[in-house]
Amino acid sequence: MVESMKRRHLLKSLGAGCIGMGIAPELLAKTTRGYFIGKTYSPDDGLKDYLHKIKNFNKPHQDDVQIENGLYATFESTVMRLRRLQKLVGHGNFNILSFTDGLSLARNYPDVGKFTKEERKFLEIVFYEDGQRYGFMGQKPLKEITDQVKKKDVIKVPYSGNFLYKERSVELFEEIKKELGDQVILTSGIRSVMKQFLLFLNKVYDSEGNLSLASRSLAPPGYSFHGNGDFDVGQKGYGKLNFTGTFTETDVYKRLAELGYLKLRYPQDNKLGVRYEPWHIKINLNV
Ligand SMILES: [Zn+2]
Repeated sequence: MVESMKRRHLLKSLGAGCIGMGIAPELLAKTTRGYFIGKTYSPDDGLKDYLHKIKNFNKPHQDDVQIENGLYATFESTVMRLRRLQKLVGHGNFNILSFTDGLSLARNYPDVGKFTKEERKFLEIVFYEDGQRYGFMGQKPLKEITDQVKKKDVIKVPYSGNFLYKERSVELFEEIKKELGDQVILTSGIRSVMKQFLLFLNKVYDSEGNLSLASRSLAPPGYSFHGNGDFDVGQKGYGKLNFTGTFTETDVYKRLAELGYLKLRYPQDNKLGVRYEPWHIKINLNV
C-alpha cells in the first residue's frame, strides 16, 4: 500500500529503526524507557532549532518521535474505533465523555465494537507516556486516564456544541461576550480524556504516526488544559481559520487584545513545545 510505503520511507529517512514491539503487560510498568521510537527531547537542543521547529510545527523534523511499526495496526484500529464512538454519541456529548463510559458504550454498541485488549493498552501507553519524550513540555492537569467531567459542574453553551465549567469558565466567557457581542463564538470548551485522545490521535494519524508533530499543535491526552477550564474563542463565520495564525487579523482577536483578555496559555515563542495559539484563553492563571 502506498500509505505504508510512505510511512516506512518516512521512518527510514528519520533514521528510526524498527523495534517491532508487541504489547506485553509488563511494558506498562516501564514508564521511564518510553515506548515510541526517536530521540528523547533534551533541553540542550539549540534554541534556534527549537524555534524553527515550532514555527514549522506542521512539518516533520529530523528528531521527531514516531509510533513504531509494531504498534501501528493497533494505533490505526484505535483511531477508527474512537471515530465510530464519536459518531455514536455525537460531537457535543463526546466532548465530555469519560474513558470508562466510552469503553462501556463501545462494548454495548456493535457499530463501534469493544476496544480490544491491545487497543486499551495502547491508549494507556499514550496517556501515561511522558509527553516530554516527544517534545511536549507543558504540565499535565489530568493525572489519570479515568478522570471524569462531572455533569453537574458544567453547562452546555447554546448553539456551540461545547461545554464550559460553571465556576471557572462560564463567567469569563459571558464577560467576553458582553464586551464583544455576537461576533465572538466558543470554538472549543471542555474536552474529556476521550475527546483529547481522538483529537490528538487523529492528528498523529494524519501525520503518519508522528507524535512530535502532532504534539506541536495539540496537547497529548491529560496535558490539555481544556480538561481544566481553558477554552478557545473565534470570530463568527471564520470557520477553521479560527485555529490559524490569521485569527490575529479578526476583529475578535483585536478586541480581545485591547481589552486584556489574552493571557495566553501558549504565547509566541513559548518554551512548551507548542505553536502560538492566540485563540486559546487561559482560565487558571496560577498554572
Ligand atoms: Zn485551546
